Amino acid sequence: MTKLNFIVPCYNEEETVDIIYKNIKEVMKKQLPDVPYSLLLVDDGSRDKTMEKIRKLAGKDKNVRYISFSRNFGKEAAMIAGLQNITDDGYVSILDADMQDPPALIPQMYKILEKGEYDCVCTKRATREGEPKIRSLFARMFYALMNKISMIRMESGSRDFLMMTSQVKDAIVSAGEYVRFFKGLFVWVGFKRKWLEYDNINRVAGETKWSFWSLTKYALVAVSSFTVQPLIWPFFLGALIGFIGLCTLFADVTIALILILSGVQLCCMGVFGYYLATMFLETKKRPNYLIKETNIEK
Ligand code: UDP
Ligand code: MG
Repeated sequence: MTKLNFIVPCYNEEETVDIIYKNIKEVMKKQLPDVPYSLLLVDDGSRDKTMEKIRKLAGKDKNVRYISFSRNFGKEAAMIAGLQNITDDGYVSILDADMQDPPALIPQMYKILEKGEYDCVCTKRATREGEPKIRSLFARMFYALMNKISMIRMESGSRDFLMMTSQVKDAIVSAGEYVRFFKGLFVWVGFKRKWLEYDNINRVAGETKWSFWSLTKYALVAVSSFTVQPLIWPFFLGALIGFIGLCTLFADVTIALILILSGVQLCCMGVFGYYLATMFLETKKRPNYLIKETNIEK
């Protein structure tokens, strides 16, 4: 039986960490009793009692390992830390601490991988019900834009909840970029993937860590990691504006035109600046995270 290694990123999840632990344990005991498993809880610099709870779980259950960051580095960093620090062979599954990624799907995902036809089982939400309308709208626009301008095809509503073979895990870990967009990276590495759908589930407890602003920044990371198209756009925009300028050469030039043009220029500079900033981060080669405490033996 192939071992199953779970990774759960936790940021201020004192209310949910015990619940997800119990649920995974129960699913494994009831439905996959012969499958060995481990659970790696990655504390992403929580400021509440998450770490106390995690230490307690690790103390009573030898399947539980943990990594605790020196500060909050973000979910992407927590996931990559999990993948890099899984020492056992076998499948790897990532799921949220808040029960929005239902552990009930684990047996089905495991069985699909065991058949050997697929390398990765991914999940997406069937509907966006229960999500604020404005967030759904922007998410939809984001996926439509991403699929138009980038080299990868992403599924709208796809989640970070997935299960993969160690080969896929190694492929993801091998991509050494600093600014990571996981959902894109999962698609980029290729391999054969199977999609499962499920209805949106609300958090069991606690609250979401994503604000509208943090989601916008996340979308910018996504675009800049998987396409350089915006770098080329200003050229066409400039050509078009130049052409319009020629046409209006003998007409009245209004202040409005100056404002619009300088606005466009500033926008373009913003695009350059964004990529430059990304390159800056990449060349610094700073670690994605710093571990303060762990019970993993190397
Ligand atoms: N998370 C994390 N670091 C962060 C933010 C979130 O590790 O900086 C974890 C969080 O504990 C949860 C998962 O990522 O397990 C998803 O977070 P959340 O439920 O807040 O996001 P949402 O479901 O609202 O997109
Ligand atoms: Mg959530």
